[in-house]
Amino acid sequence: MPELPEVEGLAAALRERLVGRAVAETALASFSLLKTVGVPPQALHGRPVDDVRRYGKYLSLVVDGTHVVVHLMRAGWVAWHDEAPRTRLRPGGRSPVALRMTFDDGSGLDLTEAGTRKGMAAWIVDDPAQVEGLTGLGPDALGLVPPLEMPPLVGVDRATGEVRVAVSTTAEERAGFWAGVLAGRRTRLKGLLREQAVVSGIGNGWSDEICHTARLSPFALGDSLDAGQTGRLAEAVHEVLLGATERAVGRAPEELKDGKREGMRVHGRAGQECPVCGDVVREVVYADSSMQYCPGCQTGGQVLADRSTSRFVK
Ligand SMILES: [Zn+2]
Repeated sequence: MPELPEVEGLAAALRERLVGRAVAETALASFSLLKTVGVPPQALHGRPVDDVRRYGKYLSLVVDGTHVVVHLMRAGWVAWHDEAPRTRLRPGGRSPVALRMTFDDGSGLDLTEAGTRKGMAAWIVDDPAQVEGLTGLGPDALGLVPPLEMPPLVGVDRATGEVRVAVSTTAEERAGFWAGVLAGRRTRLKGLLREQAVVSGIGNGWSDEICHTARLSPFALGDSLDAGQTGRLAEAVHEVLLGATERAVGRAPEELKDGKREGMRVHGRAGQECPVCGDVVREVVYADSSMQYCPGCQTGGQVLADRSTSRFVK
């Protein structure tokens, strides 16, 4: 599932390609994708793209003041075409394409979703605050401010002309922010990091990496962390997400999905050697997800309960 770094990279790539272009046509192939009825996709035709933004893990195309907000969920993605395919999309057909947008220079993008379990969702609204999922988001995990108030993290350096990721928080602010988040929360770190109403942008993959970098057990309870551990967590969130965002920015949309794996040391690597301490990366498997961690780095060598016993461990 795309998380903060991948969606920020996607937003930057689309911003570069689309700002100043006008929407030529739209074709909705999956009617379950669109969650709003007020503004039909055809209303976007002929209007210019102003911006492309990220809110938490949501992507938004701003078309002449109207927001096309998308949550890619588990299997959704954006396919970019320098030249949009001319094939007609059949509504309800077998194509993974749920929505196609073409632009006035012949380019286009497809919102695609693989698999049979469709979860991707889109809203077309005049104000992003009309999307309930957006107003409920906690502060951005990198910017530490409410997503709807946050400028893009990616900008062009005026002096050098280079595209760069700019985050202006200090270590002190980050530690203070996380101390506030953790206070009174008797929730395991792994769950807490992924709770979008608390902090937005982190999902299953990067939460494993953050716990590993912070040398903290994913099962540690939020309010049990001391000041030193809280500081480590704050810096791990910052380092891991900033590094991943820097690697994501400048990549084409089709490279971003696989690029995510490169920066990961434990997530998706059960059975492999931890690059930090050499211990074997372990995993805990749940009904529809799993998490990976390194006992050597994170739990003092203790192996956490797997599926057969985890339901007894609260
Ligand atoms: Zn290790």
